Amino acid sequence: MSGPGGVGKGTIAAALVAADPCLWLSRSWTTRKRRPGEPAEAYVFVSEAEFRSKIAEDGFVEWAEIASNLYGTPQPEAPAGKDVLLEIDVQGAAQVRKNHPEALCIFVEAPSDEEHEARLRGRGDPESHIAKRLALAHSERIGATELGAIRVVNDTLADTVSEIAKILQRSRTG
Ligand code: 5GP
Repeated sequence: MSGPGGVGKGTIAAALVAADPCLWLSRSWTTRKRRPGEPAEAYVFVSEAEFRSKIAEDGFVEWAEIASNLYGTPQPEAPAGKDVLLEIDVQGAAQVRKNHPEALCIFVEAPSDEEHEARLRGRGDPESHIAKRLALAHSERIGATELGAIRVVNDTLADTVSEIAKILQRSRTG
């Protein structure tokens, strides 16, 4: 699952995993500082040196630099039989797709740029990051189209979660 930062992917991912015992959520590593009020489990928060040494030991499935911070998916340790849910940016999704062509790519968007900006501001992102993130959202949208990702507009949480759950169900039953 991809989509610009601040569209609500974290909340959606938590709801999907809570409702689906076959889904296992991967926890990414990041060098970004924890935001005020952000749960400690949102990421494995590490220093740049720790992150770089994990890269050196081939510990990531994919990693990317986003808005001057590093983010990476550690080699997953999902219990057998579970589907792995990654919440990553579009560059990361493209890397995963190369090794796992069967991966389902879903791109979550805010209903409008104005709403996206309000959500970024609402979660306490520094003002200097907001313009950067909005510009990034635009390039992510282009990347998602190139990837052939399924687009879902996150208007209300309940509808978005049930829409994605249906997409997952359909892809499992082929
Ligand atoms: P945020 O700082 O808002 O939590 O996340 C910023 C961006 O990083 C989001 O688009 C999010 O999906 C992406 N991201 C989070 N974890 C990973 C990861 O492990 N790999 C990649 N490539 N992107 C990630």
